[in-house]
Amino acid sequence: MNFETDYRMLIDGALVDSHERLDVVNPATGAAFATAPDCTDAQLAAAVDAGRRAFKGWRGTPIADRQAYLHKAADILNDHREQLARLFTREQGRPTEAAKSEIDIAVAWLHAYAEMTPPVDVIDKGDGQRVETHYVPLGVVCAISPWNFPVNLSFWKIAPALAAGNTIVLKPSPYTPLCMLKIGELLKDVFPAGVLNIITGSDALGPKMTAHPGFAKISFTGSTATGKRVMESASKDLKRLTLELGGNDAAIVMPDVDLDDVAQKIFFGAFFNSAQICVATKRLYVHESIYDGLRDRLAGIAQAVKLGDGSEQGTVLGPLQNRRQYDRVTSLIEDAKAEGLTLIEGPAGPAGGGYFIPVTIVDNPPEQSAVVQEEAFGPVLPMMKFSTVEEVIDRANASEYGLAGAVWSKDVDQAVAIARQLETGTVWINQNLVLRPDTPFAGHKQSGFGIENGLEGMLEYMAPQSLYIPQSAG
Ligand code: NAD
Repeated sequence: MNFETDYRMLIDGALVDSHERLDVVNPATGAAFATAPDCTDAQLAAAVDAGRRAFKGWRGTPIADRQAYLHKAADILNDHREQLARLFTREQGRPTEAAKSEIDIAVAWLHAYAEMTPPVDVIDKGDGQRVETHYVPLGVVCAISPWNFPVNLSFWKIAPALAAGNTIVLKPSPYTPLCMLKIGELLKDVFPAGVLNIITGSDALGPKMTAHPGFAKISFTGSTATGKRVMESASKDLKRLTLELGGNDAAIVMPDVDLDDVAQKIFFGAFFNSAQICVATKRLYVHESIYDGLRDRLAGIAQAVKLGDGSEQGTVLGPLQNRRQYDRVTSLIEDAKAEGLTLIEGPAGPAGGGYFIPVTIVDNPPEQSAVVQEEAFGPVLPMMKFSTVEEVIDRANASEYGLAGAVWSKDVDQAVAIARQLETGTVWINQNLVLRPDTPFAGHKQSGFGIENGLEGMLEYMAPQSLYIPQSAG
């Protein structure tokens, strides 16, 4: 199979082209290097129809057989890890070594959901009535994913949705369609026709999907602004909904940490994937007694990290993924400069048309500045001083978002006590960015609606069906 060309959609078990095509840009050069199909209305309708036709058979397939399909899909992806990671770097920008983790996560999620079986809850109190609650799949799932983790976050949807007995039509971001198209080709003959459909198109395709009456559920990952539009669209026919949205995660660093030990971990918790992570540290609160020491260490790491084309050996951080995001983050930095804030910048990336922004640490900006209040989703990190635990918890919670957070301290009990007071769905103690397929991930406040991952995440693709069964004859 050629990973360099011939990108087609997977609809009803067949590879399908479109006469309209979208340019796909390498963010390290700013130049288009491939095209992807722009799905027509008729092709969207065909994909949904295929999902509906396949649903009957797939829902009735014994769960052990569905699980075997998932294991097989995981093995095929794993066998093509190197080729997919190279393609990933070209379309997404992340250095190739780190890109491999994207495929590894897809593989891990497929295997994990292939081991998960929904429960049957039984109430039997010996009163002549037995109630069994089964969980049944919903139908065709509309899945929409973003460009920052285009494979990983697509499989957060594909794995539980298919394991639960649904069929799916997935649309990756128009900025990063290629890996998912090649994955469609790899999995074409693995699942029965129509079970897994992968279509690509511009941002205009998303609203057409969410409005399509043939879908039973929407699972969306992206920005909070788009999530609200998706929710509005879903309300028209009460489609089930899972929304994983933006975050402005706070990390709290207590005075007892070993600065040399934590600086590196905190740095990559903020800047991995050029800080384009929903759960990256985006506001860093540091106790005033250790603030200068941590700031200087982070500045030192920033100087040493190589920013460049992810396909080159030794590159640690790549470009921003797309022009729109580059412009947004650049203007946030320009505004911070205009406000007179102090910026500590790492080395610039290569000259040319690539979307490179140097690591930028903002030294103790006021809480109300845009760089603190807004989700940057790029390599600009505000770090602020705090004096008391009560004060920093209030500041961390003063956000419309509630995705994740972190607490750093040698006193783990105190760290847990602080974590319990943060209004977020995930909190890490002395670590960062760890997420597991068996653990629910759910944004609080405007970071989301519903759950991904864990058995709870699988049940979001199912509905309870309670059977009342009399125990006496007749
Ligand atoms: P985005 O909202 O612009 O786009 C996400 C997806 O939605 C894309 O596939 C896009 O084509 C599609 N889309 C656009 N308009 C649509 C509409 N009206 N209806 C339906 N679909 C539409 O987000 P993005 O810029 O691709 O991703 C960055 C954002 O995603 C950040 O805010 C980040 O925090 C968030 N994110 C959240 C999580 C999480 O799990 N909570 C994970 C990753 C990214």
